Amino acid sequence: MRGYYLHVPFCRHKCLYCDFFTAGHRLADWDSFTRAAIGEMAARLPIFNEESDRASAGKESTIYFGGGSPSLLPPEHFRALADCFLNAARSELREFTVEVNPEDVTEESAALWKSAGATRISMGIQSLVDSELKSIGRRHTADRALRAFEILRKEFSNISVDLIFGLPGQTEKTLSQTLEGFISLRPEHVSAYSLMYEERTALTALRDSGRIEPVEETSSLRMFEMISGKLAEEGYQQYELSNYSLPGKESIHNSSYWKRTPYLGIGPSAHSYNGTNRRRANRPDLFAYLRQGWSPEMVEEEILDSDQLREEMIMTGLRMREGIDLVEFEIKFGKRAMETLIKEATPFMSDKFPEGPAAMLAEGHLSLTRRGIMIADEIIAALF
Ligand code: SF4
Repeated sequence: MRGYYLHVPFCRHKCLYCDFFTAGHRLADWDSFTRAAIGEMAARLPIFNEESDRASAGKESTIYFGGGSPSLLPPEHFRALADCFLNAARSELREFTVEVNPEDVTEESAALWKSAGATRISMGIQSLVDSELKSIGRRHTADRALRAFEILRKEFSNISVDLIFGLPGQTEKTLSQTLEGFISLRPEHVSAYSLMYEERTALTALRDSGRIEPVEETSSLRMFEMISGKLAEEGYQQYELSNYSLPGKESIHNSSYWKRTPYLGIGPSAHSYNGTNRRRANRPDLFAYLRQGWSPEMVEEEILDSDQLREEMIMTGLRMREGIDLVEFEIKFGKRAMETLIKEATPFMSDKFPEGPAAMLAEGHLSLTRRGIMIADEIIAALF
């Protein structure tokens, strides 16, 4: 599997909690951006293909337009970028996702995304309670989000929706309202994230000045349990810590990140991985990217040593329901490292805890149980 990611670095407004690399809509020079992204793809694709072949990545591929707000791309620019990525991904495309905001969804835009080749939509709804949406600076309303979903459903049979829990003012009752609304839409996939107070965001400044009160950690944990319990009842599998899907509808593109297959990130601040030991990141310099186009000097490269690779495999493996493949782990890091991993994990497999074991060994995989998911950070840290 090989992934192709486009980072579209423009948004209509900055949401209060967002620390992604984005600029205001008014700065969107779509001609320059599209030209630079297509130029970057042409320059980097041969090396990416060579490295992916070397990593035995197979020919199947995925495309993901994220950001930022790819749903702001004007039609001709969207088509040009979609064509460029489809050519790069060649014929064995498994999935082409576009991230959209509810306020950008119209009958015309949905038809455009579909006809340009997209097969899956990921929509940032976050909550179906207007006061909660307002508290994090989202511009849509619950009604607008529901209408957008209805429009998308006419074109797409694979839709993911994002939910954020632990929002200022959110209670278990209002979360339940959002969950009920989501379930009634029957999306194929739900991503549910806990609200993070990232450094240098407006939301963190509001918290620090006492103007908003964060939800208590215990309450946030109960919300997480409520989401996983309710979605499980409705037939959604929690295949990753924050991701739930109907059977067979897991995000293929995002699963590749957790399975560490190669991906090529195009656009300012986009990250790439060569499938073995090199990570690359484009510097987040929008003006240079728009003015000069992409150049090799924009790339920062990190070569991962064996300890870093082992820690990554533990971290990403335990985030997934299927867990760490112990045969693969042994091939990569040796028998001794595998035995140490199992030894360190053994205390978490004990059934002496009243709530049952936190980790388990089954079919050659080490994975977390439902209880383990709640204390995943603690377990991962212990296994490093
Ligand atoms: S729409 Fe998404 S990327 Fe843009 S500011 Fe809001 S959270 Fe950030």
